[in-house]
Formats: sequence, structure tokens, C-alpha cells
Amino acid sequence: MTVLLREPETLEEAVGILTADPGARLVAGGVTVCLQITHRRSDPSALVLLRRVPGLSGVTVLGDGTLEIGALTTHGELAADPELSARHPRLTELFSDVGNVRVRAAGTIGGNLANADPAQDPAVLLAVIGAEAHTVSPRGERTVPIAGLSAGAWRSTLAADEVIRRVRVPRLPPTSRTGWSKIQSGSLDDYATVNAGVRMDLGADGTIASVRAVVGAAVASPRVFDIPALAGSHPGDTLALKACAREATADLETVTDHRGSADYRRHLAGVALGRALTRCLDDDRRPA
Ligand SMILES: Cc1cc2nc3c(=O)[nH]c(=O)nc-3n(C[C@H](O)[C@H](O)[C@H](O)COP(=O)(O)OP(=O)(O)OC[C@H]3O[C@@H](n4cnc5c(N)ncnc54)[C@H](O)[C@@H]3O)c2cc1C
Repeated sequence: MTVLLREPETLEEAVGILTADPGARLVAGGVTVCLQITHRRSDPSALVLLRRVPGLSGVTVLGDGTLEIGALTTHGELAADPELSARHPRLTELFSDVGNVRVRAAGTIGGNLANADPAQDPAVLLAVIGAEAHTVSPRGERTVPIAGLSAGAWRSTLAADEVIRRVRVPRLPPTSRTGWSKIQSGSLDDYATVNAGVRMDLGADGTIASVRAVVGAAVASPRVFDIPALAGSHPGDTLALKACAREATADLETVTDHRGSADYRRHLAGVALGRALTRCLDDDRRPA
């Protein structure tokens, strides 16, 4: 098998190669692409390496507190980033727990999101926080909410010649809390059996005003949903939080695979969501 290696020096050049050759495949960290080629699930005519394109790595804080993350930033770099940890400590926890040290050293946020693998972690919490991907294609630039990147298991809503340039994570108000939970049935470097991300907003009296949640890994395509039943509850009322989590996941359309049956996953979804909700209580770090 012969594969042409292309190393464009601009994103526009990369997009041009993908447009001219529909068999070409973009490579960021190569974690997924290389495994797919090794297991003969992908047979690209060319590999388009992004590593020479400048400006695609790192975290920048914008004037309004939004974080701009380059698509080539690795999970490991995000786990160690002080700006991310000051503003979104739950995301730091999440990136520290992706796969194993080798996956975190090579795998990138752009490659992870473009994969649309329903078992992956970052999209779950980024979606409830309201993060967006900024993309480039021959049709110009566009902004896609992270919640709108998946069209189903392993199918992203990106066009074949569309490249993620960066991810923007909005600043959350001091009244917002986030929670994250990941349950693994196998080894600790395995994907989640179920994961859950939550954004809880508090009212002036300290009670819950609204809750947005996502359950991932146990479903074909994670979706954001609200939990209106929690409005007016105290964020420290763990019994109410856990009961609502069980109720909110009782009809979830879960999947059966080697990580567990649909019924087992539905039960775990309630547990994971309950944990994510209760963890909102100690998420009170926000920079001025
Ligand atoms: C053992 C193991 C354990 C893992 N555990 C976890 C886990 O616990 N949680 C988790 O979330 N993930 C996990 N992963 C998945 C891992 O995080 C992803 O494989 C990785 O993030 C993909 O990033 P990459 O840069 O290597 O992408 P690549 O393999 O380079 O690319 C992946 C796909 O995205 C496309 N692509 C890459 N960059 C872009 C871009 N900028 N714009 C558009 N398309 C692009 C590529 O063409 C390809 O289709 C695990 C993987 C392994 C092998």
C-alpha cells in the first residue's frame, strides 16, 4: 500500500488538497487515523499532516475571558494548561483522564471532536458549557456549536473538506457550576462506559435556576437536554439531584456493545449524571 504524505504550510493549502482529492485524509495527532489504517478500516490515497501549519496549538485568553484553543492542542497540553484550569477546572479533570499518557501526548482536541466517536469525552462537557468549533472550508469559515458536531455514531456534521481551526470556550458567569463524571467498566485507560457533563446555573437566592446536561458513551449520539425538575432545588440537596438524575435518564435510548448492555448503561447513566450534578457543588473557582 502506498500513501502519499502531504505537509501543507497553511490551512487553506490543506483544504485545497482535501477538495482536490476526496480520498485524502487529514491527520492531526494520528491516534485514530493510524489505528484505522493498521486495522484496514481506512485506505486513504494521501495523508494530509497538519503539523507544519502555524498557529494551531495552544490556549489564548480573549478580552472577554473566552478561551481560544487551537485544534492541534493535545489532551496532555490541555490537562496542564493553567488558564484552562483557572477558568474550567472540570475540563482540566476531563482532559487529564482521556485514554492513557500516550493518547494524551498525541491526540488533539480537533481530531477528537472531528471523530464524532460517541464514546469520547471532551464533547460532552464542551457542549453543555456552550463551546463552539471554528472551521475553514472552500466555502469560507463557519462556527459550529460542539453540540451540533455529531450526526450520529462516527459521523460528524463536518464536510469532507472542512477543517477545525480552533475551539472557543465561553467564560462562565460566577453563578454557573459544572460537573463531570466518567464511569469505566474495563481498564482505567479505556473509553468511558458512560460519561456525563452538567452545567448548573444558580439564581440570586442560591437555588438552582437551570440545568443543562449531556450523557455520552452509552448512546449513539450524545444530545444536550434540560432538567427543569431541578429548578428551585438547593444545589446541596444530593438526594433530590440523584433522584432527578435517575428520572432524567429512565427513558434514555442506550446502546449495547462490548462495554455493557443497554439496560446496564441506562442504570449507569443515572449514576453518572447524579455524580456530575453533585460535583457542581464544589466547582466555585472563577477568576475575576
Ligand atoms: C487506547 C485509546 C484510549 C482512548 N481513550 C479515550 C478516552 O478515554 N476519551 C476520549 O475522549 N478519547 C479517547 N481516545 C481517543 C483519542 O482521544 C482520539 O483518538 C484522539 O483525540 C484523536 O485525535 P488525533 O489528533 O489523534 O486525531 P487523528 O487520528 O489525527 O484524526 C482523527 C479524525 O479527525 C480528523 N481530523 C483531525 N484533525 C482535524 C481537524 N482539525 N479538523 C477536521 N478534521 C480533523 C481526521 O481526518 C480523522 O478523521 C482513546 C484512543 C485510544 C487509542
